[in-house]
Amino acid sequence: MQRIPEPLKELVEQMARLPGLGPKSAMRAAMTLLKWPEAETRRLGRNLYELRDKLHLCSRCGSLSDSDPCSVCADPSRGRDSLCLVAEWDSLLAMEEGNFYKGQYLILGGLLAPLDHSPAEALDMDRLTRRLAEGEVRELILALGATAEAEATASYVRDEVTRRFPEIRVTRLAQGIPLGAEVKFMDRETLRQSLRYRQELN
Ligand SMILES: [Zn+2]
Repeated sequence: MQRIPEPLKELVEQMARLPGLGPKSAMRAAMTLLKWPEAETRRLGRNLYELRDKLHLCSRCGSLSDSDPCSVCADPSRGRDSLCLVAEWDSLLAMEEGNFYKGQYLILGGLLAPLDHSPAEALDMDRLTRRLAEGEVRELILALGATAEAEATASYVRDEVTRRFPEIRVTRLAQGIPLGAEVKFMDRETLRQSLRYRQELN
């Protein structure tokens, strides 16, 4: 019986763990890679190999970047008094794509499960607290979405921020956005409108 050669087998096993790929489609993808011109396959390998060395987290906002601070945090034309809090980096990308927000961001690193009893571990509250303690931020805009997890997270963050920094205005994106919506999946116009009509939380 013909066996799958070991290097191919290992690659397929790894690729099968990627979202949207199972063992069969991973094998198909691997076969495609083998049919690519050799230089292309090697370039892909090199990119994968160097990914960890070339990308880091911005020490200001926590986003993925090839520079620290990232291009958004380093941009002197952006306002420093409003801070938009997003769950993950892809929400930041969605906001930036619309090009309507001119303030700063901070990535919280996740959302709370509605009945989470150890919230501090799931969220990067330290980064947020440090940032607010610098004293530049006047308004914190919660752009966490409209899911149950987002609701739980928003009320937790609002309570923490209001308790420690009562002078900071806490707002959230307008709730016209469909229930269950995640920021990263919202279209540009919906995001722009929900930022414009954002609501007071404290
Ligand atoms: Zn940054």
